[in-house]
Amino acid sequence: MKKRNIYRCVVGAAVVSSVILASVPVMADTEVQKYTNTDFAMDTVVSETLYTTGDDLNASIGEKLRDVENGLLSWTESDSQIAKINASDGKTVEVSDELAGYLSQICQLAEDSDGAFDPTLGQVIRLWDIEGENPHVPDEEELDSLLKNVDYKNIVLDGNKVTLKNGATLDLGAAGKGIGCDVTASYLKEQKDVTGMILNLGGSSVMAYGEKPDQSPWKVAVTDPRDTEGDYLGAITIKGGEFLSTSGDYEKFFMEDGKRYHHILDPKTGYPVWNGLTSVTVVCDNGLLADGLSTACFVLGIEKAQALLEKYGADAAFVDEDKNVYLTSGMKDRFELMKNTYTIKKIK
Ligand code: ADP
Ligand code: MG
Repeated sequence: MKKRNIYRCVVGAAVVSSVILASVPVMADTEVQKYTNTDFAMDTVVSETLYTTGDDLNASIGEKLRDVENGLLSWTESDSQIAKINASDGKTVEVSDELAGYLSQICQLAEDSDGAFDPTLGQVIRLWDIEGENPHVPDEEELDSLLKNVDYKNIVLDGNKVTLKNGATLDLGAAGKGIGCDVTASYLKEQKDVTGMILNLGGSSVMAYGEKPDQSPWKVAVTDPRDTEGDYLGAITIKGGEFLSTSGDYEKFFMEDGKRYHHILDPKTGYPVWNGLTSVTVVCDNGLLADGLSTACFVLGIEKAQALLEKYGADAAFVDEDKNVYLTSGMKDRFELMKNTYTIKKIK
C-alpha cells in the first residue's frame, strides 16, 4: 500500500517536472501487480490469481500442472511414471526422487488411515466408470475379483525403487490435485518477485501462497453439496502456506433407484461410502496431505477421522445429509456459515 502511494506521488511529480523521470521505472518495478487467469489442467478448471512485482507466471504454472499430470500421474499417458509402474507386471521400477517422496507420504497416509485411503483402488474405480461414458453398478463377481488386488500393503517402496505385488495397480487420483498445489508452491518459493498467489483446482484443491497487497485473508468458498450451482454453504479463511481440499459425494456420481453412486469408495467393500457425509474439507500445511486427508476422512467418518486429523495437525469441516456442519476446534475460527438452512454442530 505504502509503495503504491509513493509510486503515485512520483508519477504525479513527473508530470510537473521531467527531471525526475529517471526514477519512475525503478519505482514502477516494485509495484505489485495482480494477474488472473483461467486454465485447464489435471482434468479440471484451474483458477489462478498471482500478485507479483515481476512477470505474469500464470501460463508457466498451468504448464507445470500439465507436466505433473502427463509426466508423473497419468494412467493413460504411457510415458508417465505411474503408467510405467502399472505396466511393470510386478517388476521393480526406479522412479524420480520427486515421485518417491510423494509415494512415501501416500503410503504413510494409507497406513495412518488404516487403509481408508488406498492408492491401489484404481481398477475398481474404472470398473464403476463413474467419470466415464457408461457409469453402472458393477457385476458382483467382477468387483470381488478386482478388490482382491486392492491393498496399499502391496506397494513396496525402497528408496527410489517401487514394486507392486499381487497384481496391484497405482492410482494417485485422490491426492493428484494436492500434488499439483505442492509443485506450484515449491515453484513460487524460487520466484523472488512473487508476493502472493491463490491457486484453485476445480474448487476441490486450493493453495494459498504469501499474502495479498492489502494483507486481507485468503477466503475459499465451500460448495453446498445439495445445491452445487446455488449459493455457497460457507467460506474458509486460509493463510499463505496453507492448503485446502474438499472431497464430496456431489463431484462425480450417478443416481440409480434413488441411490447416489459417487466416486469416493470404501476400499474394504469397493462400494461408494454411504455414511451420511456429503462433504469433508481439510486445511493443513501440505497439498498432497490436505487432498489425501479429505478423501480418507470422508471414508472414516467424523469420529474415526479425529485422531488422523490430529496426527497431521489438520483442521476439518464435515457436512452431512441432515445439513449439519461439524467443525474441528481449529476450524471454528476459520469457518463462516453463509446459509441458514445448515446448522453448526459440535464434534462429540
Ligand atoms: P476429487 O478428485 O474429485 O477432488 P478426491 O480427492 O476425493 O476427489 O479423490 C477422489 C478420487 O480418488 C476418485 O475419483 C478415485 O479416483 C479415487 N478414490 C476413491 N476412493 C478412494 C479411496 N478410498 N482411497 C484412495 N483413492 C480413492
Ligand atoms: Mg482427495
